[in-house]
Amino acid sequence: MGERIRDLVIVGGGTAGWMVAAAMADHFRGAGPRITLVESSTIGTIGVGEATIPTIRRFYQSLGLRDLDVLKATHGTVKLGIRFDGWTGNGGGFIHPFGLHGQDLRGIPFHHYWLRARAAGLGGAFGDYSLAVALAKAGRFTLPSANPPSTLSVFDWALHFDAGLFAGLMRQVAEQRGVRRIDARIEQVQQRGEDGHITGLLLDDGRVVTGDLFVDCSGFQGLLIEGAMRAGYEDWGQWLLCDRALAAQGPALSPPPPFTRVTAQQAGWRWTIPLQHRTGHGYVYSSRHIDDAAAEAELLAAIGAKPTVGPRRIAFTPGRRTQAWKGNCVSIGLSSGFLEPLESTSIALIETGIEKLKQLFPDRDMDPTLAAEFNDWSRREMERVRDFIILHYWLNRRGEAFWQDCRAVDLPDSLAHKVDLFRRRGHLVRYRWEMFHPDSWLAIFAGFDFLPERFDPALDGMDAASLDRALAGMRQAIATAVADCPSHEEFIEHYARVAAPALSATTAGNAR
Ligand code: FAD
Repeated sequence: MGERIRDLVIVGGGTAGWMVAAAMADHFRGAGPRITLVESSTIGTIGVGEATIPTIRRFYQSLGLRDLDVLKATHGTVKLGIRFDGWTGNGGGFIHPFGLHGQDLRGIPFHHYWLRARAAGLGGAFGDYSLAVALAKAGRFTLPSANPPSTLSVFDWALHFDAGLFAGLMRQVAEQRGVRRIDARIEQVQQRGEDGHITGLLLDDGRVVTGDLFVDCSGFQGLLIEGAMRAGYEDWGQWLLCDRALAAQGPALSPPPPFTRVTAQQAGWRWTIPLQHRTGHGYVYSSRHIDDAAAEAELLAAIGAKPTVGPRRIAFTPGRRTQAWKGNCVSIGLSSGFLEPLESTSIALIETGIEKLKQLFPDRDMDPTLAAEFNDWSRREMERVRDFIILHYWLNRRGEAFWQDCRAVDLPDSLAHKVDLFRRRGHLVRYRWEMFHPDSWLAIFAGFDFLPERFDPALDGMDAASLDRALAGMRQAIATAVADCPSHEEFIEHYARVAAPALSATTAGNAR
């Protein structure tokens, strides 16, 4: 057994840095390494990242935080899924919900029954069988039942939150559990000659912070993992064409929709994220298809009113750090890679990065087997998220050059395999380490009307009239459940409303 890590140093105090600090301090409960976090308030954080997926709730619950408290503390609203507007090219939209569609019967997944009905001209839209979709469309919300009466009522939810307030909450948890914070700018990363391991960080006030293990949460630049360790970056620009974002804020929407809206634009897509006191707006686009000024004009025209903050431009290279863990440096957050904001995967990848680090936490000898496992696991997970995101673009049916180019990309083999299995037989591939489950893939396939050539042959002989009655019963059960729920606005008002701040301090402090 090697010697235990005595000093764990986290670089960066954005969403990633403080999530790592809170989770590691909680994990070791005072019996592990000393934890120090270095951040520079003069540099600030990226100041975006307001939409989450349901895993965030499991993350903060494991730290002892409760949903309604987090909603309040972050001025949050509820997210039941994502509404895609204009992506199908016919002016329509569809919702990718956090929840199941329909009910499986006799071991046959529900979508085969729906396809069977559709072949007979029956059944309606796939989304009609999702309670989360129905709630989102009606602008209603209630907390899901702990013991749902049937799979028809299974749904989950996530939050839209102020990322600065969420990082502040994580900081509170971390500091309560003993994490030491240093506010200074790192001027130099010191490494030892023989193996390049990091030994210390020289700060702008002349101090040196030493450590055994360094977690790089320094954002896109990867101050340690790339600046010092040269871990390499895999550029995925051949599949994901967007490489710029404009981020702005405007007044709150009334009533706030319980979903994120992503609207197709000329050369990318626009997000609308409702918080209690403001709305996040942004345009993610391809610099090869539109210049910055035209993108800004398109965003401002779409928002309508003058933004209260921004727009601010952010450039990025979609891809991943080739070795997310190298030597005694582990990267988590933007320093480990970034695909793009569609489907809000970045904070969820911070959560899984933390989980991997906990499971593979090293001793001071930095056993390379642990790093290899971490890197292999990260690669697979990130490639699967990448494939899911590529799918959205590849299925589009819009006419602009950007969208045509998205359809023309050569799919990675891993995605081509999934698409083929679904196309031929309606089969959904499921891997162990995969962020998006078959129901999410189905929502996207069906939303774009990309349907299998064949449904399960066991349903060939099924009587269409009795199937139609069963499906009508499911739709009715969902309609009844929705009618009983309060509006999202009433829910927020009753359980999570906070008074509007005089000035959003988190907003003002975030811009880099
Ligand atoms: P940052 O926030 O950049 O933090 C870096 C930290 O390092 C800062 O504290 C900084 O001060 C510190 N630092 C840097 N250099 C030094 C130095 N020399 N000395 C000392 N300290 C230093 N994710 C989602 O899950 N949902 C979304 O909706 C979403 N939307 C996004 C939209 C856009 C346009 C972009 C670009 C990203 C989005 N993300 C989203 C990703 C999300 O913003 C990030 O995953 C999250 O904010 C974590 O960032 P970070 O902590 O890794 O980096």
